Amino acid sequence: MTKITGEVAARRVEELAANRARGRARGAAAAAGAGRDPAELTLVAVSKTYPAADVLALRALGVTDFAENREQEATPKVAEVAARLAAGEIGPAGTAGPGGAVGPGAAAGVPGPPVWHFVGQLQRNKARAVARWADWVQSVDRPELVAALDRAASAHGRELSVCLQVRLDSPVGALAPGPSGRGGAAPADIPRLAELVAQARALRLVGVMAVAPLGQPPQPAFARLRAVAERLWKEHPQARAISAGMSGDLEAAVAEGATHLRIGTALFGERRPVP
Ligand SMILES: *Cc1c(COP(=O)(O)O)cnc(C)c1O
Repeated sequence: MTKITGEVAARRVEELAANRARGRARGAAAAAGAGRDPAELTLVAVSKTYPAADVLALRALGVTDFAENREQEATPKVAEVAARLAAGEIGPAGTAGPGGAVGPGAAAGVPGPPVWHFVGQLQRNKARAVARWADWVQSVDRPELVAALDRAASAHGRELSVCLQVRLDSPVGALAPGPSGRGGAAPADIPRLAELVAQARALRLVGVMAVAPLGQPPQPAFARLRAVAERLWKEHPQARAISAGMSGDLEAAVAEGATHLRIGTALFGERRPVP
């Protein structure tokens, strides 16, 4: 039994390593095509629906950043990853590989904790739980959420990096709500939200995030995001992150200046529907 379990785990590690290598190659090719340095790109592994063991395996392979989109699923998973790393676990045999960064103070060979991103639609009453473990909240799209996250992060004595989520399914400047239901503030509302985040004590404005609209070519949408980002930089020059691009559209995102690629399926495999 133990042997079979071990073999299954080792096969999964091989699969994750191969997917990760393919993902990196795609990012590097896209960067080359856009005349950009691949070092400007951060791969954010979207681990939703996948277990802590997969996070540990990719962490040991050198992936630094992970994202979740549901508080109920993420809170226990983040805690499990932290506990297993603290116990010195680096995943099944063969997991630790070149590039497995070692965090300060970590036992030799054990990677430091991941950087955790929250990327889902966030209810105000979940802000407290998310602010306890998230390093970044990428999906901030309304004033109430800014206030709730600021209070929660302050209460936990933490600082959160915040991206403003931009809705891309209507042209820049339009105010009509978009049809996609994927969240995000209208581009016209971004300057006001940015000001609120900049004034919040426990929040640090780091950039913008968006999901490409369904049923439209992604690149013109990502070009609109880039325009929103460039406007933001005039007032907030430090907020340079552009989180855009998923498994299906990362090339278009890199062509339009993305710095953070949120990759789920291409790393972990097709997700089963969440019940
Ligand atoms: C699930 C998810 C991703 C990853 O999508 P894939 O197509 O699986 O790569 C990226 N961003 C957000 C906000 C997500 O919810």
